[in-house]
Amino acid sequence: MPRSFALSALLLAVAVPVAAQRKDAGDELGREIDARMELVMPKVVAWRRDIHQHPELGNREVRTSKLVADHLRSLGLEVQTGIAHTGVVGILRGGKPGGVVALRADMDALPVTEQVDLPFKSTVRTQYNGMDVGVMHACGHDNHVAIMMGVAEVLAGMKAKIPGTVKFIFQPAEEGPPAGEDGGAPMMVKEGVLENPRPSAIFGLHVWPGPLGSLNYRAGGAMAAADGLEIIVKGRQTHGAIPWGGVDPIVVAAQIVLGLQTIASRQIDLTAAPAIITVGMIQGGNRGNIIPDSVVMVGTIRTFDEKMRKEIHERVTRTAEEIAKSAGATARVTIPSSAASFVTYNDPALTEKMAPTLKRTAGEGGLIVINPVTGSEDFPSYTQTIPGLFYFLGGLPKGADPTTAARNHSPYFFVDEAALPVGVRSMANLALDYLKSLGTGKTADR
Ligand SMILES: [Zn+2]
Ligand SMILES: [Zn+2]
Repeated sequence: MPRSFALSALLLAVAVPVAAQRKDAGDELGREIDARMELVMPKVVAWRRDIHQHPELGNREVRTSKLVADHLRSLGLEVQTGIAHTGVVGILRGGKPGGVVALRADMDALPVTEQVDLPFKSTVRTQYNGMDVGVMHACGHDNHVAIMMGVAEVLAGMKAKIPGTVKFIFQPAEEGPPAGEDGGAPMMVKEGVLENPRPSAIFGLHVWPGPLGSLNYRAGGAMAAADGLEIIVKGRQTHGAIPWGGVDPIVVAAQIVLGLQTIASRQIDLTAAPAIITVGMIQGGNRGNIIPDSVVMVGTIRTFDEKMRKEIHERVTRTAEEIAKSAGATARVTIPSSAASFVTYNDPALTEKMAPTLKRTAGEGGLIVINPVTGSEDFPSYTQTIPGLFYFLGGLPKGADPTTAARNHSPYFFVDEAALPVGVRSMANLALDYLKSLGTGKTADR
């Protein structure tokens, strides 16, 4: 993204932008959300800037989590802290009987040195895996935290009218915990955030460089399952001038790279879902005239369908092993799973039910159905247990070129705070519309 946005103009414009003033606010509760949101927006903007200026890496969100917990307590919520290291859960029990819904925000930043010229630019540095690094909210989680603090304040203000319970889940380490530590969504679930009370659905959002104030979503596989890939090809060392004296693992590795590409292009049904197999690193040998003993290949596999994911893993293993075998070498294939190994899957029935809410609450950019996103999330750790909907909030400043705008994880990543009201509005309405859809009967525990 161009580095020279008229940020000062943006910064002055804390007044609630157009999106908040849209006419279609839905029913009475929807109108009350809008009115309360306008009051809370200056705080949301201030929280976002504060959190942006004080980013913390995964499992180290001490300051952020205290800010969240203090705020939730001040609103009168039941607050649990120290979950999965720094996680916070706030429970808002409405004045009317009903079901339970969960909202999730992630709190961690990345080891990136900020290059955006902002008055609240991060200058924080810390140690990460033994290295001195800059820390930046380069994935925009500062916005997620501020939005959800705002949603909590809006909904707490109308507590008496809420039919059911809203559970606010503030999660550490979405980007993965530091080496040797547990963390993130899987650990939150393990530590019971989906119990007592148990929500029957969960919603989460992510900022990205989409049209300003737009909401972007798709039903079914929305974000990829990301699996690591490691292949060790073992040949037999020989002189570079006498290849017949050994088994060349470099040529075998080259054949494997090409063979793997035929899996996505020739062997799976690409009309059902896309798939990506990338070898991003090959290491072998140290001299031009020595054929080495072995080669290590490291890559990533992205899939959008659980059945296809398993099938691709089998084909990757078979392809590498059989190609190696044909040359008299061996290939040992490892596909380690992690918190990112699940597809971010938007439950089709839930998505269909909530789409009108997204449409109503989207800002000027409107509601946009998107293609699958090949990035991954640890949000599916929640949706392994309960249905969920994960959507995107466009934060690209007006006039910025989407084709060259910095993407998430860039040191130039920037979210226009004019998108924040749409975040608050959409999440608060999703929670209430969902609870209303459950009614006050015994559907509560469904
Ligand atoms: Zn990220
Ligand atoms: Zn993120």
